[in-house]
Amino acid sequence: MSPNEHEEGYFGQFGGSFIPPELKEVLGYLSEQFYTYKEDPEFNQELRYYLREYVGRDNPLTFAIQLTEAWGGAKIYLKREDLNHTGSHKINNVIGQILLAKRMGAKRVIAETGAGQHGVATATACAMFNMECIIYMGAEDTKRQALNVFRMELLGAKVIPVHKGQGRLKDAVDEALNDLVQNYKTTFYLLGSAVGPHPFPTMVKHFQSIVSEESKRQILEKEGRLPDAVIACVGGGSNAIGAFAHYLDESSVRLIGVEPDQAPTLTEGVPSVIHGFKCLVLLDEEGNPKPTYSIAAGLDYPGVGPEHSHLQEIGRAEYVAVSNEEVLSAFQELSRTEGIIPALESAHAVAYAKKIAPTMSRDQIIIINLSGRGDKDVEQVFHMLKD
Ligand SMILES: *Cc1c(COP(=O)(O)O)cnc(C)c1O
Repeated sequence: MSPNEHEEGYFGQFGGSFIPPELKEVLGYLSEQFYTYKEDPEFNQELRYYLREYVGRDNPLTFAIQLTEAWGGAKIYLKREDLNHTGSHKINNVIGQILLAKRMGAKRVIAETGAGQHGVATATACAMFNMECIIYMGAEDTKRQALNVFRMELLGAKVIPVHKGQGRLKDAVDEALNDLVQNYKTTFYLLGSAVGPHPFPTMVKHFQSIVSEESKRQILEKEGRLPDAVIACVGGGSNAIGAFAHYLDESSVRLIGVEPDQAPTLTEGVPSVIHGFKCLVLLDEEGNPKPTYSIAAGLDYPGVGPEHSHLQEIGRAEYVAVSNEEVLSAFQELSRTEGIIPALESAHAVAYAKKIAPTMSRDQIIIINLSGRGDKDVEQVFHMLKD
């Protein structure tokens, strides 16, 4: 990690903030406030309160007995982010940022959303904290995810379809940033993954680090030792960086990020700037961000968090890709063996664990970060399996 990370948000050559001057000022102020409040005992007490009483933390680190038997190698533990309120890890970050927004006196929260998961989590927290909530969503995405649009509206949010560009996530981010430039005095931009200009990657990691803070304590209680590997899926990289954070300095722990083989940003991307920060990006022949496709909407992004780009470059974490077939099979296997239907995103981590567990010994341990539950994906899988 470069020594100027605190000020500039660099992870080696990656990260930073490549944004217009007016936005630089706004994010500079946000950064200042974040570094102040993250050390503030009252802020942290309030954060712990909502994580416990509203999100339902700690969530368990479940020993997957049947899966361990079936795979015949390393012991498999599941970190149960699927049991959080709203069904995934996203709420950890949303609660952290909305408490910061409140301290900063914001009356209005804006967010981008692709498939709608982050939009729903944000709308949920805004309902509870009585904040005005505006969600920017690509017009194409609002059509494909009509039910999530309805969920956000039920929760009192206003969903604005973005018709510019291709009407996708990228365009929604651009619109949200424009809104922030115009309304920064009253508005807080609640970004959904460990991406974007500084301080977002650092801030999102901070709020998601609760995942590995708990899993480390839990595995030491249950097994008296650290895991041999931690495996998480990677879209923008927020659940993975949260699952890795407290193991980064434990060199005996392998950290493995899993991507779809149709959006293999970390294995095939090249250093480039996207959405105001530098990271590994999938580019086409003309050097433009390549349109990606994943059966898991949450992993469908041509860039990735700057810290993952750095961990890849220095070799501290390994990044691998799995196929749709492997993911679908893992989705079904976890459902059948453990009675847990995972999100399609999380099923990527399960699919890779299945490959390495049998090659490990029975006294070794793998923690799979189960980033979310699969209720949202059941209908899609139903149609895919029928065809
Ligand atoms: C959004 C989402 C992801 C991908 O986002 P990251 O920032 O990479 O964690 C993964 N799993 C679930 C369940 C999601 O909703």
